[in-house]
Amino acid sequence: MAAHKDYYEILGVSRTATEEEIKSAYRKLAMKYHPDRNQGNKEAEEKFKEIAEAYEVLSNPEKRRLYDQYGHEGLKGAAGGFDFTDFHDPFSIFEEVFGDIFGTRTRSRRGGRRQERGQDLQIRLKLTLEEIHTGARKKIKLNKLVRCDTCRGSGQKVGSQPRVCPTCNGTGEIRQVTQSIFGRFVNVSTCPQCRGEGQIISDPCPTCRGEGRIRADETIEINIPPGVSTGNYLTLQGKGHVGPRGGPAGDLIVVIEEKSHPLFTRHGNDVIYDLYLSFPQAALGADVEIPTLELDEDGQDLPEDNIQRYRRVKIHVPPGTQPGKVFRIRGKGLPELNGYRRGDLLVQVKIWVPTKLSPREKELLEELSDLENLKPPKKGKSFFQKFKEAFNI
Ligand SMILES: [Zn+2]
Ligand SMILES: [Zn+2]
Repeated sequence: MAAHKDYYEILGVSRTATEEEIKSAYRKLAMKYHPDRNQGNKEAEEKFKEIAEAYEVLSNPEKRRLYDQYGHEGLKGAAGGFDFTDFHDPFSIFEEVFGDIFGTRTRSRRGGRRQERGQDLQIRLKLTLEEIHTGARKKIKLNKLVRCDTCRGSGQKVGSQPRVCPTCNGTGEIRQVTQSIFGRFVNVSTCPQCRGEGQIISDPCPTCRGEGRIRADETIEINIPPGVSTGNYLTLQGKGHVGPRGGPAGDLIVVIEEKSHPLFTRHGNDVIYDLYLSFPQAALGADVEIPTLELDEDGQDLPEDNIQRYRRVKIHVPPGTQPGKVFRIRGKGLPELNGYRRGDLLVQVKIWVPTKLSPREKELLEELSDLENLKPPKKGKSFFQKFKEAFNI
């Protein structure tokens, strides 16, 4: 631990060193051990921290006095002073000291350097009505740009160093001063050579050719809440393409698309089911089974148009039911997205008319067609009457 080493020894100066000597010793060592010059070298990184800590203490007269008198304990406040063991980020100390030498270069390489963000990735996700009804957990395979593991996204061949961009001297920007009759104007634009990154790859990583990213398949799991509809989209932050050379990733945008269903039609949160009745059923009344969107435990593998696939509810169709009549089964529709309400299942009556008849069927129907009571009334029902009947009002 740095805390137990002698700060004067770390900087290689005598106990009587002047402020100037301490600063100069720090400069020499900090340049030598700066992580940018020793990429991946843990020892150099430790050394860089140690030097910064020693410099921070010895360059401050109050801290140096405590250290001289009480050693490391003095900095911890043991002598009744403040606790000085909360050291600064070694990089900020480096900047403090070197800021005047390299100016923007040091700063831009640490904080101001622009990193290009990766592009958003958009996919369409098809869902069945049943999946929309319950919500779904989907595994999706994506082909996207991911970080290159060989160079850890730097784009630089392992063991080599990127070069400071010669066009902008590492600032990532180009300043152009124009003189006009109105005065001096400074125009700042992104450096075209390094695209604002401040450095250029001198020896590209062979895996990604200096891009810092490669194309790869990635499987992700997406949770879809119940009640979504076509055109809804989910944004998964940071799940898109990663940016070049360590740039942050874009977003993944999942656009929902509803598959059409052979039995149900969606109408908002309500679901419409067409119930086909034979003429005798409509005239005599019948008990019928209506499929809901909930899957039946035993029927899950049946095709979508088989009503045995779904849990059914029984309804009684009264005698004399007209085509177009709608039965409302409350709460059996779709849940509201991010809400508590549920839509209804609307059962719309249709009369099944056979298209092929056997001679016997034909004979029976012809007999029925002569019955006066089975003929439609001469005067048709008013629209209003039909409407009242359809909606049970
Ligand atoms: Zn540049
Ligand atoms: Zn690489």
